[in-house]
Amino acid sequence: MSRADDVARGLGEVRDRIASACAEAGRGADDVTLVVITKYFPASDVRILADLGVTDVGENRHQEAAAKAEECADLPLTWHFVGGLQSNKAAAVAGYAGVVHSVDRVKLVRPLDRGAGERPDARAVDVLLQVSLDPPGTEHRAGAAPADLAALADTVAAAEHLRLRGLMAVAPLGEDPAGAFERLAGLRADFLSDHPDATWLSAGMSGDLEQAIAVGATHVRVGTAVLGSRPRVQ
Ligand SMILES: *Cc1c(COP(=O)(O)O)cnc(C)c1O
Repeated sequence: MSRADDVARGLGEVRDRIASACAEAGRGADDVTLVVITKYFPASDVRILADLGVTDVGENRHQEAAAKAEECADLPLTWHFVGGLQSNKAAAVAGYAGVVHSVDRVKLVRPLDRGAGERPDARAVDVLLQVSLDPPGTEHRAGAAPADLAALADTVAAAEHLRLRGLMAVAPLGEDPAGAFERLAGLRADFLSDHPDATWLSAGMSGDLEQAIAVGATHVRVGTAVLGSRPRVQ
C-alpha cells in the first residue's frame, strides 16, 4: 500500500470513530473538528491529508511547525499550535498559527498579541486556554491551575488581536480519561458563565477521543490513529 492509502485508511477510521461518538452523545458529526497532529511527520503527509479533505492540522514545536507551515503555504489549511509555548517564541507562533491551544500563563499573552497584530492577513488568532487536569498538589505537566483560569481569560479577552475561544486539556497519564474529562466539563461550565462565546473545547486524542466527545469536546487532536506511530521518539 502507498503512504496515501495508509493515511486514507487511518483517517477513515478516525472519522468513523468521531461520527459514532457524536451519534452516541446525541450530537451532530459536524459539531466536532478533527485536528490531525502531524508532529514528526513530513510535509508530504500534510499534503496527503489536505488532498483527503483535512482542513486543520496541529504541531507542538515551533521550529518544526514554522518550517512545515511554510512548505505547505499553498494549501488551504488552518495550523493549530498545541505544544508547550515559550514566551520568546510566542510572537512567531502567532504569525502562522490560526489557533493556539496551549496558552497557560499571562506572560504569553502580550507576545502572542504582538505577533498576531503583525500578520499580513490581519487575521485575529484564536486562543484556547490550556487547563491542567492533574490533581492539586501534583507537579503538573502543563496547563494553568483551574484557580488561575479566570484572570488568564480576562487578559486574553482584552487583547486586541486575539480571540478567546475556549479551553483545552490533556487527560493526565495513569487515570481514567472519562473522570478527568468530567472535571474538565465542570471547569468549562464555570468558564462559560463568564465568557459565553468561548464555546470551543479541545480535548481527546487517539486513545480517548470518545470520552472527550461524550463531555462536549468540539476539537479532537489526533495523531497516531491517523498517521501511525511517530517516526522519532518524543
Ligand atoms: C501529540 C499530541 C496529540 C496527539 O496524540 P496522539 O495520541 O498521537 O493522537 C494531541 N495533543 C497534543 C497536545 C499532542 O502533543
